[in-house]
Amino acid sequence: MKVNYFIQIAMLLCLQISHAGTIHIVATTQDMKSIAEIIGGNKVEVFAIATGYQNPHFVDPKPSFIIKLSNADLFITLGLDLESGWSPSLLMSSKNKRIQKGSDGYVDASIGVNLMQIPSSINRAEGDIHAFGNPHYWLDPLNGKVIARNICNGLERISPQNKDYFEANLREFNNRIDSKIKEWYAAISPFKGSKLIAYHNEWCYFENRFGLKIVDFMEPKPGIPPTPSQLVKIIKEVKENNIKVIITSPYFKASSSEVVSKQTGAKTLELATSVGANESIKNYFDLFDNNIRLLVGALK
Ligand SMILES: [Zn+2]
Repeated sequence: MKVNYFIQIAMLLCLQISHAGTIHIVATTQDMKSIAEIIGGNKVEVFAIATGYQNPHFVDPKPSFIIKLSNADLFITLGLDLESGWSPSLLMSSKNKRIQKGSDGYVDASIGVNLMQIPSSINRAEGDIHAFGNPHYWLDPLNGKVIARNICNGLERISPQNKDYFEANLREFNNRIDSKIKEWYAAISPFKGSKLIAYHNEWCYFENRFGLKIVDFMEPKPGIPPTPSQLVKIIKEVKENNIKVIITSPYFKASSSEVVSKQTGAKTLELATSVGANESIKNYFDLFDNNIRLLVGALK
């Protein structure tokens, strides 16, 4: 009886120690959560604010997010203008000094990314939500390596004793990207140069990496829903360029793409922009497996 009691106490202490040793991470999106879990391994517990089927530009702030942030050791943001409508205010409300901008526990995953579409001047008056360049950079798997490096640096700042462990996980992640990208290139290569229409301007990094050509967008400007005149323009472009596929995302209404599909015969294809967009996309590698497979199927 007495022995049992001691075992129970010892187990409880162990649990408390392991809990205290866990690094609590809050990431703004599921993709960074996936990468943080790979780099942090058994040292971390990661929570992501946005779901994988939600438009990352527009997330409703909830009190539960503030609680998560106030207990976090590390905060990871995609940066630029992606989460600017909701993340800075959540971060401030958390009052957690360890994860504010400039602190060791703050990771801007965009550091070192070769940004595309940086405008010459910032003009939000037209509703532009890409004012610092296109923020959808995680959709190029090679940028996943940059994100992973930034997360690894953050983890090493707050937990230097685990540096070797994180570096080993980073090497494994990079090797896996290098081997998977060969598979993805091989699958898409017969369709290199294919012209597409996209709903939102969120595919330029993916397009660039896999040699595709996005001709135009259903949205006349990022964040502005399709207008009748834009639809007329798109229908003309689809016919002129013999475009077969219109890419859309889980969080956009299919109705306007379907108007174009009906008028032209081009297929509306929903791709995943994040891990968790559907149940089968469990990690960052699944995201590209899913999208390449669907795209190849639609272009065939
Ligand atoms: Zn966007």
